[in-house]
Amino acid sequence: MEFCPKCGAVLVQKTKNYGCPRCNYSSKEKAKIKSSEKIEEKKEKITISRKDTQVFPIVPEECKKCGNKEAYFWTVQTRAADEAETKFFKCTKCGNTKRDYR
Ligand SMILES: [Zn+2]
Repeated sequence: MEFCPKCGAVLVQKTKNYGCPRCNYSSKEKAKIKSSEKIEEKKEKITISRKDTQVFPIVPEECKKCGNKEAYFWTVQTRAADEAETKFFKCTKCGNTKRDYR
């Protein structure tokens, strides 16, 4: 079943295209192609963001913003090599990031 992108009414199939009985919108299968393209774009975005977060291990760390008990954890060597590295925690729920210098 096809729906009119303009007014949402159910489209009626004519000889070669779909037509809306309410607002006279008509399409030649183009609406179908557009909607499937949008779904594929969304899927790609989700996989990219998953890849980013999967790089970091999840550790038990309480988020002060939302109270979530898990955070992604990674370290960065910021200063000289003999100094302690900076620890980062990023909340798995709200994305709040905090540093730990200890
Ligand atoms: Zn949080």
